[in-house]
Amino acid sequence: MDFKTRVAELGGVGKKTFKKFEYLGVKTAKDLLYYFPFRYEDYRKIVPIAQLQAGELVTICGQVELIASKKSFRSRKTITEALVSDKSGSVRIVWFNQPFITKNIHVGDILYLSGKAQADMLGPKLTSPIYEKYKKEGSTHTARLVPIYPTTHGLTQKQIRFLISHVMGLAAKIKEWLPANILEQADLIPFSSALYGIHFPTDDNDLKLSTDRLKFDELFLIQLRAELARQEKSTLQAPPISFKEDKIKEFVSSLPFTLTKSQKISAWEILQDIAKTKPMNRLVSGDVGSGKTVVAAIAIYNAFLNGYQAAMMAPTEILAQQHYQSLQKLFSKLNIRVGLLTGSQTGKLKKEIVADINDGKIDVVVGTHALLVENVSFYKLGLVVVDEQHRFGVEQRKLIKQKGLGAHFLSMTATPIPRSLALMIYGDLDVSIINEMPPGRKKIITKMVEPAKREKAYQFIHDQVKLGRQVFVICSLIEQKDEAEIEIINYSANPTNEKKSVLSEYEKLSQKVFPDLKVGYLHGKLKPTEKDKVMDEFKNKKIDILVSTSVVEVGVDIPNASVMMIEGAESFGLAQLHQFRGRVGRSSHQSYCLLFSSSSSQKSSERLKYFESNSDGFKLAQKDLEIRGPGEVYGTEQSGEMNLRLAKLSDRELINKAREAAKTIVLNPDKYSQVMKIVKDWEGQVHLE
Ligand code: ADP
Ligand code: MG
Repeated sequence: MDFKTRVAELGGVGKKTFKKFEYLGVKTAKDLLYYFPFRYEDYRKIVPIAQLQAGELVTICGQVELIASKKSFRSRKTITEALVSDKSGSVRIVWFNQPFITKNIHVGDILYLSGKAQADMLGPKLTSPIYEKYKKEGSTHTARLVPIYPTTHGLTQKQIRFLISHVMGLAAKIKEWLPANILEQADLIPFSSALYGIHFPTDDNDLKLSTDRLKFDELFLIQLRAELARQEKSTLQAPPISFKEDKIKEFVSSLPFTLTKSQKISAWEILQDIAKTKPMNRLVSGDVGSGKTVVAAIAIYNAFLNGYQAAMMAPTEILAQQHYQSLQKLFSKLNIRVGLLTGSQTGKLKKEIVADINDGKIDVVVGTHALLVENVSFYKLGLVVVDEQHRFGVEQRKLIKQKGLGAHFLSMTATPIPRSLALMIYGDLDVSIINEMPPGRKKIITKMVEPAKREKAYQFIHDQVKLGRQVFVICSLIEQKDEAEIEIINYSANPTNEKKSVLSEYEKLSQKVFPDLKVGYLHGKLKPTEKDKVMDEFKNKKIDILVSTSVVEVGVDIPNASVMMIEGAESFGLAQLHQFRGRVGRSSHQSYCLLFSSSSSQKSSERLKYFESNSDGFKLAQKDLEIRGPGEVYGTEQSGEMNLRLAKLSDRELINKAREAAKTIVLNPDKYSQVMKIVKDWEGQVHLE
């Protein structure tokens, strides 16, 4: 057996079981080693049977006196009963529906049994405890800190644990990859010991040291990447774009509103940055509707005044359209030529626009990733603005960086990002935060709606439309993992949990619920032109109710919409829900966000309750981070930017240690060439940004 041995080739794994491991992303012995538990059950306490206390999690060690199975008369299920005793007394054991147990356990066997002690009229009892035959060498499933793994329907903890313990010996073959002095400096245990310890800790201390070591590795990689990026960038140059104060002031005072204080500060920070020869790398982080576009427009205008072109990129066609219109409007009285480049334009039109960009006939181009794939080479590019950068794919982000080389870089996000996290992910990123809303916005009323009140909610929506308002209905098509499903990742679709698809929801709403209203739908599979058509119709009030997937999540501006109704709300992250909610409340009309949930899990209803009573995007993002981790919240997981499986943002001490270590390495690349090579190999095609 080696690291590449396939799970299917390991003893005792049938085809069905193998498929389930595959579903969990575990294909080889190595994958098993790196498949970490997400919690531990403490079954260390071995209690004499006579001292069993109802309600306690315990392990007993005793001999089987009797064991027999029978079929329950009513439910036709197998019930296995046993009597187990130690020196102090005996206890009854019951297992349900595990007919094979009598094949494994026989009278006379000495067993460990772990579970919750119970008591009834006949005395103490253990129901469905985990069992394991006593062995001198120690236990795997009982009588210890027992690892609990994320699993899927039909794959038991015992099966996973068994296979992992089977391959555990491989851990010793893994060479330590960190230099000895770094290990010492950061006070870390060897990597292979940490692998043992994370799966089968000998005690609390071993568990902590092992977890810390593995967390450190994750954080160290991120910090090293950030350090390298910082170093690389320190040599780059960009054209200084000087602050044309008079013109900018004139522009700002010509706006139909007064900038908020944080908009002013953000704009000021950007104008300061781009006046330098060092390329700006700044993120404007502000809640939905906080007015980021106009801040970008100020920077773009200033670039224009200096004779530089600017590019503004959006992750979707709808958003690009919208930015294009906003900029045209904002710049309508100025002599700025704004262009739009998207994938759905005809080849001929694209060619013309590309030519105009290349010749400098277009000053500002707004576009989707078409800007990356088309033959665009700017005439005099000074500033690149990217909206919702994390929505772009890894490759696209790389391309954006390449295209924009030598230009100032501004990104904008409505997923609030704490400064500490931004620093950790991007290393040298500066962040401007817009933390206030333009005045006059009404608070959005958010309500979880019980299934019984659905009709009432529909009536309410009907009334809103009659008042002239418009409505979004969001349904999630793709099943997403959420915290309620970490332990059991649903393997087969659970009918009660089945998400309503856009089309069936559209059918229901348009034919049965609101036959007198105009209902439309939108989903990711539509052609861009079709999407635009639907959005236009919605904008022009030709559609009252728009049923959509999460494609409307970012940025879409329909001020007249006053109700956001979300089906299957439990399957979305808090930050994402907040984005949806931000689609309404964009005018003086009172707006509402109605949440429907198809989950009865305590955890998900707590999460939705939190959302109901919180309108601060930063707080929600923070909560989301706690629950789901940054990889999922910021979509950085797949890009390798942020592969945090164990480490948390709250691991301050480890973050600091990792940063110190990364600095040590970067300052002495020759001395640490070995580590640098390993890291580069690991990252493979993931470019060191
Ligand atoms: P986001 O930050 O979500 O991108 P937008 O830039 O789309 O927000 O702005 C949302 C709306 O608020 C737009 O209609 C914009 O014109 C308006 N707006 C922006 N700044 C202000 C302000 N200071 N006062 C009033 N309205 C503003
Ligand atoms: Mg926006």
